[in-house]
Amino acid sequence: MKEDKGLLIVGSADVRRALSMSDCIGAVDTAMRALSSGKADVPLRTVMKLPGGRNFFGVMPGYLAEPQGLGTKIITIFPDNAKLGLSSHVGLVLLFDSEIGFPLAVMDAGEVTAIRTAAASAVATRALARPDAAHLAIIGTGEQAVTHLEAISLVRSLKSVRVWGRTPSKAAAFAQEHGSRLGLAIEVSGSVEAAVRSADLICTVTSSREPILNGAWLRKGAHVNLVGASQKTAREADNDVVAVSRFFVDSRVSARAEAGELEHAIAAGLVSDSHVLGEIGEVLNGKVVGRTSDDDITVYKSLGVAAQDMAAARVIYDRATRDGIGMRVPFYGH
Ligand code: NDP
Repeated sequence: MKEDKGLLIVGSADVRRALSMSDCIGAVDTAMRALSSGKADVPLRTVMKLPGGRNFFGVMPGYLAEPQGLGTKIITIFPDNAKLGLSSHVGLVLLFDSEIGFPLAVMDAGEVTAIRTAAASAVATRALARPDAAHLAIIGTGEQAVTHLEAISLVRSLKSVRVWGRTPSKAAAFAQEHGSRLGLAIEVSGSVEAAVRSADLICTVTSSREPILNGAWLRKGAHVNLVGASQKTAREADNDVVAVSRFFVDSRVSARAEAGELEHAIAAGLVSDSHVLGEIGEVLNGKVVGRTSDDDITVYKSLGVAAQDMAAARVIYDRATRDGIGMRVPFYGH
């Protein structure tokens, strides 16, 4: 019986030890296929706006048949934490045993979120970007920027990387630290336009609520991961980015409820609901065509779904159990 081993606690450093980016990309790939073929149950998350309107408390339950996962993520989003040197996304991932319903593990949600979101973008990039795409622009310099740099470098052979951040000193520090860590020359751009004009891979990973990426700046053949905005009232990209692109999402249900870029473009009369060509899992399953030519501009709108958290949690639990990572706490009848 699994409960004999007690409850597993996996803090942020142990999440990093147990969840490599390449393993997470594999698990999220499987999870997205499962989500789009009825092998997952992921109700729309509950997000409470906290007094003051800046901070949020979210609960994301999910069941996933493959890789096996049942549980929930409970996460707070406090954007101003960054000013205190703290993470803006913190909380817990709770993994349960799908066969007997017992809680198996408690994990640091900030680290899981940082890794699984970038892994999902890498899965989408692998499916939608041109095979020869090699020039990456990262817009934003926070936690997601760090993990996206690593994830995208695992699915395409990068020849150049540009980063833009609204705080130039942070962009410079990002380029210096992560360029040398990953063996990549990273150039700091003075504007978003300068960063993306020659890019064929673009990741927007900011907390901006207003468009910072314009469709007019995109070159033919580019692939864009829109990651930062996750509410109807917020968007990182203007209507042109939506209108000119073949537009894909992680979850149709989430996109309808939470995708600000789509909402604005529909409200402006530029596109309709049918502009969403499919979920990334449908592309992976061969049910929907992704890129049709080298000139297509493709967009992956990422909102984040619990299936990704459950897939990552399963990898962490299995690896931690195998390698003795984390701490076991007696919990049932001990
Ligand atoms: P961080 O707080 O670590 O970084 C936020 C980044 O956004 C910083 O570079 C910050 O710049 C920048 N930024 C904030 N406001 C603006 C603005 N108005 N214009 C331009 N840049 C801005 O957050 P994370 O990296 O963890 O998350 C980034 C975004 O991704 C968030 O919006 C988050 O909610 C979202 N997210 C999406 C997920 C998904 O599944 N799709 C999952 C997790 C997060 P500076 O430091 O200079 O202030």
